[in-house]
Amino acid sequence: MIYWDYAAAAPPYDEVARTVEQLMRLHYANPSSLHRAGAEAAALIERAREVCAAALGVLPGEIKFTSGATESNNLAIKGAALHYAGRGRHIVTTELEHPSVYESCLQLQKMGWEVTFVRPDAAGAVNPEDVGAAVRRDTVLVSVMHVNNEIGSVQPLPEIGRAVKAANPRTLFHVDGVQGFGKLPASPGDFGADLYSLSPHKIRGPRGVGLLYVKEGIQLFPLLSGGSHEGGLRAGTENVPAIVAGAKAVRMAAERRGDFVSRILPLRNRLLAFLREIPEFTVNSSESGAPHIVHFSYPGMKGEVMARQLEQLGMQVSTRSACSSRLAEPSRVLLAIGRDESTALGGIRISFGDEHTPADVDALEQALLGAVKALKIAEGGMR
Ligand code: PMP
Repeated sequence: MIYWDYAAAAPPYDEVARTVEQLMRLHYANPSSLHRAGAEAAALIERAREVCAAALGVLPGEIKFTSGATESNNLAIKGAALHYAGRGRHIVTTELEHPSVYESCLQLQKMGWEVTFVRPDAAGAVNPEDVGAAVRRDTVLVSVMHVNNEIGSVQPLPEIGRAVKAANPRTLFHVDGVQGFGKLPASPGDFGADLYSLSPHKIRGPRGVGLLYVKEGIQLFPLLSGGSHEGGLRAGTENVPAIVAGAKAVRMAAERRGDFVSRILPLRNRLLAFLREIPEFTVNSSESGAPHIVHFSYPGMKGEVMARQLEQLGMQVSTRSACSSRLAEPSRVLLAIGRDESTALGGIRISFGDEHTPADVDALEQALLGAVKALKIAEGGMR
């Protein structure tokens, strides 16, 4: 079986898994406890904060640990909206966002905030001018993802960051960096971002930890109350093993980015060219997208039918993104880039990891041909 779902969850590095196990056994003390074991656990968290800060080019105090990027995105959006409600109640985001951003905005909308959803072009990129034009005097926050988790399109973040600040210097800029980190140059400073979310389990780190960069001086309304952890921003006993191993994965992903891209980009381009030759497929990703995500549709065929067929042929893929793969509706992202309903229902996402080889792509291509053939025979039989 070959695993092609790294964008949903990437297998942890051995070093990461070893760190989690060792720390669970050795550093179980509560970092808030005053004894030496507690102080040691607290020191490990501060060291992890420094490692993450160095990888992102920010100050250690600007890194906050959460339980995952879903929490980081919720905290960034609702935390900023609630804290800065006195400045206004308008938020700008895009139609492409991950559910943790999109639904946070919908929740605020129900509570009286106004939300403007900027539409992307047919390739899945938003125009910085459109974002700038949507920003008003009462816009508290703009949230735009770096790389779309479904089709891999990349947003022009430095230009968007500049457009936001030119339109209103007080508007905060949040970036969901989950699918871009380790694949593209990514530092909050380059984007002009005030808030930036990351998820270690997408870069071969452990589950159960997320990062939120919060630029010095910015305040957020905490979503969890009950303690002074993470500077009062996120109550709850810290997950020391996941934090330390997560920081290790962040460092490794930053160090290995160049290698990753030079090995995986040619494989991704080869797969894109192959898919375009199959008349039954509509390719929804392009060479200008992130190096690790390829998405295509088989219009009229449900994504899960194709995915099941591919699994029988030894390939584990996603239908869209893990968080929406159980939904029966067409993909919101594919509809946003102008695909019709039948195309938006039939998506398959292939996502690469650093372990994939040219032989894996050969095997995938054979399986894709086999799946199309099998599905056409089955379709013919049903008529
Ligand atoms: N944003 C994006 C773009 C993602 O792909 C994901 C993971 N599906 C998340 C946020 C949520 O991350 P987590 O799994 O750490 O909650």
